[in-house]
Amino acid sequence: MSDCLFCKIIDGDIPSDKVFEDDQVIAFKDINPRAAVHLLVIPRIHIDNLDHLTAEHQMLIGHIMYILPQLARSQGLVNGFRTIINTGPDGGQEVGHLHIHILGGQGLSSFN
Ligand code: AMP
Ligand code: ZN
Repeated sequence: MSDCLFCKIIDGDIPSDKVFEDDQVIAFKDINPRAAVHLLVIPRIHIDNLDHLTAEHQMLIGHIMYILPQLARSQGLVNGFRTIINTGPDGGQEVGHLHIHILGGQGLSSFN
């Protein structure tokens, strides 16, 4: 059995506040929100992070990018949003399953 936290969320072994799912991805609310809206979008298949992408992941990554604005809009972010992907220890990645943060609404600090 995988000891990956997000794989456990995908399998339903750990509860999550899910806002979207399809055959390739799920999206759920971050447990420690850093803005009024803070979602995590993850592929159903386990990929450690962007450093572990291969050519066969290109369609999946395109799909994830395509649905990000739809997800943001569905959560009320009609005037824009921020996406963050942390990669590896020097990128501040804490959970070792590729995930895209969507942040927006009140509490979003400036990013310079
Ligand atoms: P990162 O630093 O990019 O790896 O971000 C990991 C994110 O996962 C953090 O923002 C955490 O708050 C979030 N997180 C950790 N455990 C859970 C959980 N069980 N459900 C939802 N979000 C989580
Ligand atoms: Zn995983």
